Amino acid sequence: LLVDDLTPITDWQRPLRDAALLRPRTVEEAVALLGARGDARVLAGGTHLIRFARWGGDVGGDLVWIGGIEGLDAVSQSDGTLTIGPLAVHATLEASPLVAAHAPLLTAAAREIAGPAVRNLATVGGNLVINWDLAAPCLALDARLRLRSQAGAREVPLSDFYGPGGEPVALRRDELIESIALDTSLPTWGYQKVARRNGVSRAITAAAVVADVDGDTCRDVRIAVGGVGLPARRLTEVERLVRGQALTDELLQEAGRLACAAAADAVDDFEADAWYTQQMAGVTTERALNEAAGRPVI
Ligand SMILES: Cc1cc2nc3c(=O)[nH]c(=O)nc-3n(C[C@H](O)[C@H](O)[C@H](O)COP(=O)(O)OP(=O)(O)OC[C@H]3O[C@@H](n4cnc5c(N)ncnc54)[C@H](O)[C@@H]3O)c2cc1C
Repeated sequence: LLVDDLTPITDWQRPLRDAALLRPRTVEEAVALLGARGDARVLAGGTHLIRFARWGGDVGGDLVWIGGIEGLDAVSQSDGTLTIGPLAVHATLEASPLVAAHAPLLTAAAREIAGPAVRNLATVGGNLVINWDLAAPCLALDARLRLRSQAGAREVPLSDFYGPGGEPVALRRDELIESIALDTSLPTWGYQKVARRNGVSRAITAAAVVADVDGDTCRDVRIAVGGVGLPARRLTEVERLVRGQALTDELLQEAGRLACAAAADAVDDFEADAWYTQQMAGVTTERALNEAAGRPVI
């Protein structure tokens, strides 16, 4: 009886199919493997890919595990640019003094993802590919991805990386994200996430803001939102509304209304209905702008 009772619980966990686990030691070896085996797939921390496979998802052919490549988790900073290796795990973003000093928005966002065990395994590269919670902060930080294949490297702005449904259309199967460069020139920030359960759940909606605020005036700003039913995007119209303006209650309420209108394509997800996700885009944007301006967050 007990075994029968348990069957439905364990049934969804399919055994992993037979696939070779290839372990390159360098980026060159990794892209050579990806180039030679057309259906091979990059495996980083595996917190998404392995779960997806065990739910019966198609993960293609062999797995190219990049976790053994030395240096691909490095964080460095120079001339207003913070460069992060794709293998940097969320716990690294959370603990790195360089990230805290130059991109505290990312520290705050990483801290709100999953629990400590997942944060020690899940990588920033993997999170950006699946367009989850780090996508909006990285869009606000004007991220540029360096993609490498056997043919060489190319740079793609994160804003051009995703298709309309949030899928990583710019990433070819034979390519690897080699580094992520972030513009750290805007000093203040705000990050507001609404989720079902803190520490476990992906954002229903989260807004990420970086800004240069002088007194009451917003000299410059970049804003992005994303969530379960809302592929991450920059809110350029909201940026235009507040850039160069005095940050009054009325202006920030209008910014929230505009953010809500810009999320009209939100879709239903098992975490939240589309209407709620859309409303939260407005609420979190207004809150994150208040936070970035050092105003009370209500
Ligand atoms: C219990 C739990 C709770 C979670 N909670 C949250 C949450 O609150 N918020 C949130 O945002 N996420 C959450 N996650 C998801 C987690 O953050 C992501 O699964 C993780 O960031 C993906 O990174 P990874 O290294 O594990 O990627 P993998 O699973 O190894 O790969 C994911 C995808 O990225 C591709 N990929 C990975 N690295 C590269 C690269 N360098 N170049 C090219 N392609 C690459 C892979 O081919 C694959 O398609 C949670 C996960 C779990 C298990």
